[in-house]
Amino acid sequence: MQIECDFVCIGVGIAPAVQFARRAGLDIENGIVVDEHLRTSHPDIYAGGDVVNYPDPVFKKRRRVEHWGHAEYCGQVAGLNMAGTPQKYDLLTYVWSDVFDLHIECAGDETARDRTLLRGSLGEPSLSSSICVTTR
Ligand SMILES: Cc1cc2nc3c(=O)[nH]c(=O)nc-3n(C[C@H](O)[C@H](O)[C@H](O)COP(=O)(O)OP(=O)(O)OC[C@H]3O[C@@H](n4cnc5c(N)ncnc54)[C@H](O)[C@@H]3O)c2cc1C
Repeated sequence: MQIECDFVCIGVGIAPAVQFARRAGLDIENGIVVDEHLRTSHPDIYAGGDVVNYPDPVFKKRRRVEHWGHAEYCGQVAGLNMAGTPQKYDLLTYVWSDVFDLHIECAGDETARDRTLLRGSLGEPSLSSSICVTTR
């Protein structure tokens, strides 16, 4: 597939900063490993946000998510658990962004798509691209 364009923007992702957690002896595997309560391998340490490898209850697999909404939600879940109110992670992850005058929204696991729909044209400012995911 060839796409004519003026420039190419490549998203290279991030590497989680886990050195301090590793030195503390926490389990690390593509991020700090946490359970559904965001508890690490140490019973008194919780973690959340970009840096955690957590069990996603929607997609039934371990993931690491690099979006603001996930990070904020993790803070709420970890805080409740630390305060003694049991709370499981239960979020359909999403991301939104405003890039100049372009508004972008996406929900779910974009890596697990079954098919991609494109409505409109990539050359137009207004288009809709849907990634269809079937949970199995
Ligand atoms: C350029 C850019 C654009 C983005 N745009 C969007 C967007 O449009 N929408 C969206 O949903 N998400 C966006 N994101 C992602 C979003 O910013 C992150 O998902 C979110 O900030 C993660 O929050 P966090 O608290 O997990 O980590 P961070 O916000 O990265 O906070 C971690 C903090 O820990 C500190 N730290 C690290 N190691 C140590 C240490 N050893 N000791 C003490 N402190 C330490 C860091 O300095 C940092 O302040 C963007 C990210 C980037 C980089």
